[in-house]
Amino acid sequence: MDFEPSPRARALRAQLLDFFARHIHPSEARYAEELAANTREGRRWTPLALVEELKALARREGLWNLFLTGHEQGPGLRCVDYAPLAEVMGRVPWSAEVFNCSAPDSGNMEILARYGSEAQKRQWLQPLLEGQIRSAFAMTEPEVASSDATNLELRMRRDGDHYVLDGRKWWVSGAADPRCAIFLVVGCSNPDGPRHARHSVVLVPAGTPGLEVVRPLPVLGFDDAPHGHCELRFDGVRVPRENLLLGEGRGFELMQGRLGPGRIHHCMRLIGMAERAFELMCQRLHERVAFGRELARHGVWHERVAQARCLIDQARLLTLHAAWKMDVAGNKAARSEIAMIKIVAPSMACQVVDWAIQAWGAAGLSELTPLPQFLLAARALRLADGPDEVHRAQLARIELARFAGASVPGGGD
Ligand SMILES: Cc1cc2nc3c(=O)[nH]c(=O)nc-3n(C[C@H](O)[C@H](O)[C@H](O)COP(=O)(O)OP(=O)(O)OC[C@H]3O[C@@H](n4cnc5c(N)ncnc54)[C@H](O)[C@@H]3O)c2cc1C
Repeated sequence: MDFEPSPRARALRAQLLDFFARHIHPSEARYAEELAANTREGRRWTPLALVEELKALARREGLWNLFLTGHEQGPGLRCVDYAPLAEVMGRVPWSAEVFNCSAPDSGNMEILARYGSEAQKRQWLQPLLEGQIRSAFAMTEPEVASSDATNLELRMRRDGDHYVLDGRKWWVSGAADPRCAIFLVVGCSNPDGPRHARHSVVLVPAGTPGLEVVRPLPVLGFDDAPHGHCELRFDGVRVPRENLLLGEGRGFELMQGRLGPGRIHHCMRLIGMAERAFELMCQRLHERVAFGRELARHGVWHERVAQARCLIDQARLLTLHAAWKMDVAGNKAARSEIAMIKIVAPSMACQVVDWAIQAWGAAGLSELTPLPQFLLAARALRLADGPDEVHRAQLARIELARFAGASVPGGGD
C-alpha cells in the first residue's frame, strides 16, 4: 500500500499552503465583513466579491479543479494525491470554492465527466470546470426517509420527447446561489420496475417553468449563506429527453457513483478542520491560567490532547487507505473503505471541535474562532451524504456476508 503523495502533489501542497498564508487566512475577517455588509444591504444570497477575486488568483496559479482525479479533464492527480490538498482546504470551510473544489459542484462535475453525453458536457460540465456557473444535486425529499434512495417519490413521467417532474425536494445545497444554473434531479421514472431500477436523474436548468426555490433551510439556526440548503417545488417541470443522465432507471447506479468521491472529499476536509481545531485548542491551553496553572498542566487536558491526536491520525490513515483503494481498485471495490471513513471522520471532527470549544470557554462559542462553524459542518456531515447508521449497516452487511456459512478456526463445530 502506497499512501505517499506523488512529488507533484507534494509540490502542489506546498504551493497551496503558501496561497493560504498569502491570501486565504488574511481574508477570513474580510469574508465575514462582506457577508455582513451584503446582509445589511438585503443581498444575503449574493456571491462574495472576495471569493471571485481569489478564484482568479488560484486559477492563475494552477490551483484549480484539483479534486477531479482519474479523469482526462482533471489535473492528473490520484485520490491519495488529492487527500492532503483537500485537508488544507478543510482548514477554512469556504476556501474549497476558491479552487473550484467545493461540494456539491465537485460531485456534479464528477457525474457529468463520467456519465454525461458530449452535448451535456459541452453545455454544463465545461462552464462548471471554468467556475462560471454552479450546480445542485436534488435527491432528498421531505415526505420520505431519503437515506433509503429507493423511497424517493418525485414523479418523473415520460410525455413524448419530454419528462415532466412533479414533487418536492429539500436540503438542496447551493440552490440559493444565483449562479446555480443546473439541478441534477433524482425522480421516480419507472415505479413498477425492480426496486433499484425505478429512479432516473435528469438535468433541469434553473428558471425552467414550474421549478420554484421555496426557501432556504437553517442548519442549527444558521442559513449557510451565500450558498444555502433549500426546499424546492416541481410543478409540471418539463425537460427534453436528452436531459436524462446515463439512462432511464439507472439513477441508483449514478447516485452511488456520485457519492463515493463526494464522501471521501468531505472526510479529507474534515481532517483539516479537526487539525485546525486541535491547534487552536493547544494554543489556548498554553495561554489560559485557571486555578494557578496553565490549562495545559491540568491532567484532564492531557487525556483530551492525546486522544484527539490519536483520533485525527486514525481518521487520516483510514481516509488515505480508502483513497488508495479507490485509485487501485475503483470506487465500487472501495465501498467498505469509503463507508468506514464516512462513519469515522464526522464523529471524530465533532469530538475534537467540541473539546477545542471547551478549552476556549464561552469564547469558543463566539465568532472569535471558526469553531462554531466547524461544529455545524461536522455535525451536518453525520447526516449529509447518508446518516452514520446507513453506512454502518452497509459495512456490517459486507463483513457478515464474508462469514455466512464459513467455518472459522477455533469457532467450535
Ligand atoms: C447541511 C446539509 C446539506 C445537505 N445537502 C443535500 C443536497 O445537496 N442534496 C440532497 O439531496 N440532500 C442533501 N442533504 C440531505 C441529506 O443527504 C439527508 O438528510 C440524509 O440522506 C438523510 O435523509 P433524511 O433526512 O430523509 O433522513 P431519514 O432517511 O428520514 O433518516 C432519519 C434517521 O433514521 C435513521 N436511519 C436511517 N436508516 C437507518 C438504518 N438503516 N438503520 C438504523 N437507523 C437508520 C438515522 O438515524 C437517520 O438519521 C443535506 C443535509 C444537510 C444536513
